[in-house]
Amino acid sequence: MMPSQELILGLSLEELKLKFLKNGFTSLDAKRVFPWIHMKLAKSFDVMSDVPKCVRETLPDFFSIVRPECKTKQKSLDGTQKVLLEFSDGECVETVFIPDEKRNTICISTQIGCIIGCKFCHTGTQKFSRNLTSSEIMSQMFFWKDIQNESNGSSITNIVFMGMGEPLLNSKNLFNALNLLLDEKIHNFSRNKITVSTSGIVNGSIEKLAKFGVKLAISLHASSDEKRAFLMPINKKYNISNVLNAARKYLYFSNVDYVTFEYLLLSGVNDSDNDAIELAYLLKNFGIQCKVNLILFNDWFGTEFRASSKGHTFLRILLSKGIRTIIRKSRGDDIFAACGQLKSERQ
Ligand code: SAH
Ligand code: SF4
Repeated sequence: MMPSQELILGLSLEELKLKFLKNGFTSLDAKRVFPWIHMKLAKSFDVMSDVPKCVRETLPDFFSIVRPECKTKQKSLDGTQKVLLEFSDGECVETVFIPDEKRNTICISTQIGCIIGCKFCHTGTQKFSRNLTSSEIMSQMFFWKDIQNESNGSSITNIVFMGMGEPLLNSKNLFNALNLLLDEKIHNFSRNKITVSTSGIVNGSIEKLAKFGVKLAISLHASSDEKRAFLMPINKKYNISNVLNAARKYLYFSNVDYVTFEYLLLSGVNDSDNDAIELAYLLKNFGIQCKVNLILFNDWFGTEFRASSKGHTFLRILLSKGIRTIIRKSRGDDIFAACGQLKSERQ
């Protein structure tokens, strides 16, 4: 059952003022509470010393700033950490922290389960339950910020929306979270440190995302509609040329330098020399400023796919055709924290 206290970690100041007014508080109260939540990372209303005591005492009857409960925590040999967070209605998501020499990246989920059902993705096998609210999206960042602060660790530098779910099917809440993350007076992430990955939902959301100017990654995974539709049923609705046209518009409206295409190499499915040549031809033909990230398949129990061993040949072919390409190294795969391995269903 949902408790009556509403989680307010992802509300803008304007939204917070409205909620406060509706519940008998003042907009000045909201103005004072807001920086405590976002800049001082307060975990309870008690500590908000400039908020009148009677207000501090009454706020918890209506609102909550508690972090979701951490149900399980795993640490990989490479330092990657994965946690399962539980929200107030008992639903859970996974979120991942990936430390690197120069940066600390967090991978954030936007939905519980995923409706898109890509064949190679573990999340896609989990029944879609619901969208996360903007507060639940933000709460994952607060969770990792708390941990970094408590352990005097270095701060979070990058955010990737590559966790569970399809971000652009929850665009309103995604955009609210992005507003808070990018605002220089609030969380102050720069646009090029945030990446949104999409399976290619081109119903207008990509164009709307462009106004945020964040990095866009599109899961392509095949160069023919037939193959892509086999791997990703969404291709029947939005095919490759729809997706590439949207990518072109994104470049035009967002002012980012390039779009990233993710290409998961699956043995015997999309990893032949010919697949690489066709991919290069497709991208050249469309003339889009892009980079290709080749992804190695992360295994999960019950999958029909196998990782490809042809990554380097594929890479060489794309490079020889003038396509900027890298093979993305997989992180945290020993704890199932890598892309496409996240799943939160209790089994
Ligand atoms: N729904 C969005 C974002 C989450 S998935 C999307 O599909 O883009 C993040 C990335 O992980 C996507 O590129 C996805 O195709 C990839 N992925 C899914 N399953 C995978 C697996 N088993 N191994 C490696 N990458 C996978
Ligand atoms: Fe959903 Fe992305 Fe997984 Fe496809 S790859 S099922 S869109 S989370």
